[in-house]
Amino acid sequence: MVCCCSPDSCCQNRWKWKRWLQKSQKTRKYTENRGNGRVIPLVSSYDSVQSVEGYYLSRSGVENCSAGFPTGENFSHPAAFPRSLGAEWKMSATTIAAGETTTTGMGKRRYQVIIVGAGMAGLSSANHLAKNGCTDFLILEGRNRVGGRIVSIDMGSQKIELGANWIHGVLGNPMFELAMQHGLISIINIPKPHKVVAATEDGKQVPFQVLQEIYEAYVCFLRRCEEYFLCQYLPPPDIHSVGEHINLEVELYLNGVECEKEKHLRKLIFDCLLKRETCITGCHSMDEIDLLELGSYTELQGGNIVLPSGYSSILKPLCDNLPKENILVSCPVRRIHWKRKAALRAGASASDTILEEDEDDGNASDDSDRTVTEVPTSGDNAAQAEQKQTEEAARVIKNSTANVVVECDNGAVYEADHVICTLPLGVLKEHGETLFVPALPQYKIESIDSLLFGTVDKIFLEYDRPFLNATISEIMLLWEHEDKGEEGDEQVEPDEQWLKENWYKKIYSFSKVSDTLLLGWISGREAEYMETLPYELVAERCTDILRQFLKDPFVPKPKRCVCTSWRKQPFSRGSYTAIAVGASQDDIDNIAQPLYSSPHQSKPSVMFAGEHTHANFYSTVHGAYLSGRTAAQIILTPDSPQEIVMESDSSDLSSWIQGIALD
Ligand SMILES: Cc1cc2nc3c(=O)[nH]c(=O)nc-3n(C[C@H](O)[C@H](O)[C@H](O)COP(=O)(O)OP(=O)(O)OC[C@H]3O[C@@H](n4cnc5c(N)ncnc54)[C@H](O)[C@@H]3O)c2cc1C
Repeated sequence: MVCCCSPDSCCQNRWKWKRWLQKSQKTRKYTENRGNGRVIPLVSSYDSVQSVEGYYLSRSGVENCSAGFPTGENFSHPAAFPRSLGAEWKMSATTIAAGETTTTGMGKRRYQVIIVGAGMAGLSSANHLAKNGCTDFLILEGRNRVGGRIVSIDMGSQKIELGANWIHGVLGNPMFELAMQHGLISIINIPKPHKVVAATEDGKQVPFQVLQEIYEAYVCFLRRCEEYFLCQYLPPPDIHSVGEHINLEVELYLNGVECEKEKHLRKLIFDCLLKRETCITGCHSMDEIDLLELGSYTELQGGNIVLPSGYSSILKPLCDNLPKENILVSCPVRRIHWKRKAALRAGASASDTILEEDEDDGNASDDSDRTVTEVPTSGDNAAQAEQKQTEEAARVIKNSTANVVVECDNGAVYEADHVICTLPLGVLKEHGETLFVPALPQYKIESIDSLLFGTVDKIFLEYDRPFLNATISEIMLLWEHEDKGEEGDEQVEPDEQWLKENWYKKIYSFSKVSDTLLLGWISGREAEYMETLPYELVAERCTDILRQFLKDPFVPKPKRCVCTSWRKQPFSRGSYTAIAVGASQDDIDNIAQPLYSSPHQSKPSVMFAGEHTHANFYSTVHGAYLSGRTAAQIILTPDSPQEIVMESDSSDLSSWIQGIALD
């Protein structure tokens, strides 16, 4: 291509430099926010590339989630949360819901901090507050357990993970440090040798060298995509997504293969690896993922670590520091009223409080000492009771002197100086526009819309006896390509009929959790379709697949099948965050941006935490943990919300490592 500019001021170079500058500014901002002038190490993800022989899913190696649970809510399973945690918290919630307000702590309705959500981000916030002497907080959790997208259950003699299953990386990973500190990992786990075989639909196995060759080429293509994030060059014209870029490289690569049969086989392997990538990234197709932003995710070195006692065991050390009465489970939050005067003027009475936004519903009242109403909703008077409850809540909201008032589904109303909102991106997408009163600023709504919160589900199959060759740990399924409707058009949305006939072709492999337990991953629209199916049907389909690809009609039927349903769950509405084409890290920053009730306020009224608010570790547990801690630190730091110093005690390697400049 010929360009009319001089080499130094080339229009294309200018664009590239602008982008580079933006990236370095972003890195600087991140450094200032997280480390008080310290530099966050930029870890090269090349270091953790594994050969096919030893490969495993790198980021979200992923797992499962709800499958055979009748309600579709995997947490309804009695084993879905550690009894010692769940039972305790459940009891406190039940007490509150029954209107018991006399027990110490139970009648309290006003707090310094309310934390919405008891996933990793919420628990990390609470833990950081408690460790620093602030116990005037309340966690409101919608589910009947803590942990959110961390949930381990027993399946046979095995612990299985319905949500997060790996600690991604060792160096600088606070989850690894926490696990080490509490004896949850005794030695550094080096992944066992992993023998992968790949088979075609007619049951033929692909020679290992071919698999290795394609895997290595694929990893190179992926790394090239990641490089666009910080490098100075542009992708080819009209290539905007990771999927498009990889497919272009695949095409060029395959042009060098003469034999059509060999070419076809290699293409099937690339397709399979791309399906696997959708599970790692959290999307339907890699065509949805922004090419320039892929490298914004920072991979920590050290591989993937499994907690033998289940990922949920990491919740206990966090919960142990929290007063029991500070967590209410089964208490979904309905609305967060936030734009209020920061505090009453000296000498003014409650009724003088002026809302920044007019929330007046016409029910003005001086009944300001009454801060909560809980009305029984059973019997003939349910509608009346609900009406009364709404009126009471409105009165409390109207008369409250607090910065923020939080309304729950059960009618309870709580007041706080600050709220830390850790609702998952999927929930914000669904309810974001109505959940906040007044509504969230437009820039936030747009950013919530533009990021992806894809679906990734797991299918666990438990058998009476082992049947897969003892040396094989994973079988990759090389499905023939299926058009989605319009001839050859990859972009066509799969319709209901197509999904019915083809959903299972998105399962890219089955891997061994143990000799009698297999795990399959599935993503996107196909996963969402799978969530609608009875688990017997899923089990039958998986048996057919295994019989076909192993060319073995005697593959047994599983005795139990557990499938997750992350999309269907009202408290998640998906699996994890990814950066869609057209979106960027800036959207994550926008969502993370705290809300102030007035320009004079020294500390925000509403802060946001959760994996979707961490610009480099989105989609991970450690991202959620760090974001929760940062939000809590804003409250703890005296009057300087922009300068956050992460406190470093000697056991906290992640804070320490963040102080070292590796560049
Ligand atoms: C299948 C799968 C595999 C994964 N694998 C890994 C992995 O290997 N490694 C890794 O690091 N990460 C993994 N992740 C991602 C990881 O689980 C999440 O990033 C992390 O747990 C998110 O924590 P969070 O606190 O941000 O959100 P959540 O854990 O979702 O917590 C949010 C909380 O808010 C609650 N809530 C929702 N709505 C309301 C409401 N209206 N009122 C009150 N409470 C509400 C929810 O019930 C939940 O408890 C995986 C996720 C999935 C789904």
